[in-house]
Order: sequence, then C-alpha cells, then structure tokens
Amino acid sequence: MVKPFVPQLVYVEPRAMEYPLAKELIGKFEKMDIEIRETTSHNQIRNLPGDNHFQKYRTAKSTLVLGIRKTLKFDTSKPSAEYAIPFATGCMGHCHYCYLQTTMGSKPYIRSYVNVDEIFDAAEEYMQERAPEATRFEASCTSDIVGIDHLTHTLKRAIEYFGKSEHGKLRFVTKFAHVDHLLDAEHKGRTRFRFSVNDDYIIKYFEPGTSRLKERIEAAVKIAEAGYPLGFIVAPIYLHEGWKEGYKEMFERLEAALPAKATKDLTFELIQHRFTKPAKRVIQENYPMTKLELDESKRKWKWGRYGIGKYVYQNEEQEDIKDTLGGYINKYFPDAKIEYFT
Ligand code: SF4
Repeated sequence: MVKPFVPQLVYVEPRAMEYPLAKELIGKFEKMDIEIRETTSHNQIRNLPGDNHFQKYRTAKSTLVLGIRKTLKFDTSKPSAEYAIPFATGCMGHCHYCYLQTTMGSKPYIRSYVNVDEIFDAAEEYMQERAPEATRFEASCTSDIVGIDHLTHTLKRAIEYFGKSEHGKLRFVTKFAHVDHLLDAEHKGRTRFRFSVNDDYIIKYFEPGTSRLKERIEAAVKIAEAGYPLGFIVAPIYLHEGWKEGYKEMFERLEAALPAKATKDLTFELIQHRFTKPAKRVIQENYPMTKLELDESKRKWKWGRYGIGKYVYQNEEQEDIKDTLGGYINKYFPDAKIEYFT
C-alpha cells in the first residue's frame, strides 16, 4: 500500500511566505523535521541532492516546492474540459509512460502554488466570459493533485469554491486513494471525481509509487458514497499479452464494488497508449529497465500538437480496443457514458 506523500525536501520562495498556506505548510514541515530551503524561483531548483541524473531525478520526485503561480492565463484542456486550472505541477508517482516525462523533463519536482485565491479570481473571469454557459476546469493536467492534497487542502477548497459557483464545474483524475479529507467537502455535485484505472499487469509493471487498483476502487466507493459524480479514465490502454482478460477482470471488479447509485451517472474516458520520440528518450533514461513497448515500427504515426508526432496503435488495434472495452462498459455499466476514445 502506498502511503500518503511526505516530501523529503521542501523549497519555498520567500514571497510565498506572504500567503497563509505557505506559512501553515512550512510550520507543519518544520515540526516533521523536514529540511526546508529557500529558492528564488520555483522554476529554478538547483543543487538537488544526488550524484547523478538517476539519483537527482528520484530526489526531485520527492521534493516539494511552494511557490507563487505568476501566469494566471489558463491553458485549454480539450477534450475533457474548457480550461486547465493550475494548482500544482509535477507528481510523486513513477509511472513509466507519464506524459509529464516530456512536458517537464528537466523539472520533475512537485510545485504547489500557494496564491490560491488569485487562481480562483482568474477562474472567475473565465467563467464570466462564457456565462451563462458552464465552464469546466480540469485540475489534473500537470500533476496528480489528489496525491498532495492531504497536505495542502487546495483541492478541497477548490471543490467547495466550485460548489458555490453558478457556472463553474471542476474535474480531476487521480491514481491515489488518499481521499478521506475530501469526503465531507461541500461539492454540491459540481465536481466530477475521476480515478485513473488500469488492469493489474499495467499497474504492477508501469505505475510504481501509485495506489493499487484495489485501493483506488475502495476510494472510488467512498467518493460515490459521498455523493460526487464519479468517472473513470482507463489510461493508457496498453496492449500486452492477455489484455482482454486483464481489462475484463478490471471491469468486473469495478462492477462488484460500486454502489448502484454511482452507476447511474458514471463516465468513462478511454485513452490509448501513445508516445513521442522525445518521451521515449526520457523514459529510457529515467526507467532504463522498463518493459514498456516503445517500438515505433509497430505503431501508427499521428500528427500531434506543437508539430511533435506521436505513435499510437494501428487502426485495427484501435478498433479492437474500442470494441472490447466499449463492450465491457456496455455490459457492466449500461447506463454509463463513454465520453471519448483517443
Ligand atoms: Fe504521471 Fe499520473 Fe503517474 Fe503521477 S500518477 S506519475 S501524473 S501518470
């Protein structure tokens, strides 16, 4: 069982200390005897302990940086929401295929932004722009926000903030089961709480440092019982020997555990495994023993954002994934909605 994250090392920007969240967290970390260092910018953490890249990478993944989010222009977040809301960047998990490998290859430490009210104010402006249409905000585009929230409670505040809002909705996804502090948040049904799930083989070989499927399902049950709209992202869908059986078992376990009321308003998002050439290089550097199959010749090349092509499964394989997983969802969760396959 993965324990709730506790940083080994903490950095703080001096100006962050003007915000109550940083003061509170630094007080907490001092009591826990965690080393605290100052940094002029959360974007430039130097001198991380470690003799080589491999060690420094691992240290970074257990380092928490408290900073101020200066850019309050939100990125778009298609297809799951209108905007990405930036509460944190980075993650303590060690998923080999993680998309953060490339987007923040040189800065794998975890950054938590303490100017939360300013982030809410920016969200308010985006909502006003689109009103009376609803605006959905995705809080897990650049981190697994649930994984650090037992420390910061930023997500809990956001859930309650959007619970009170007229036009805003919140979404996020997690591979962590540490959700107890979120169970009494006044979400008012405006937050969709999603868990990232996968079959046992994939979690075992490619997702070290995250909660196991059993724990994620237990957490999903708690979240459903707390009345949150629930969803699952099956990602990355990865073809390995026995994948059809593996995914069948995963859906069977979900169906056996979830309370009936949770299955009435349930969403699934399906994302096939993909990689880019830069990601492959970073993965092989950080996880040299990985069993992850990254053979371009077996894949189909697809035009990607910023001109970087990605390698996805061949058309017939994609059809097989859609038929197989779509079939399981229809069988075990006939009322659920499949939001997209990509
Ligand atoms: Fe990346 Fe999510 Fe794994 Fe964290 S839990 S390493 S964000 S895939």
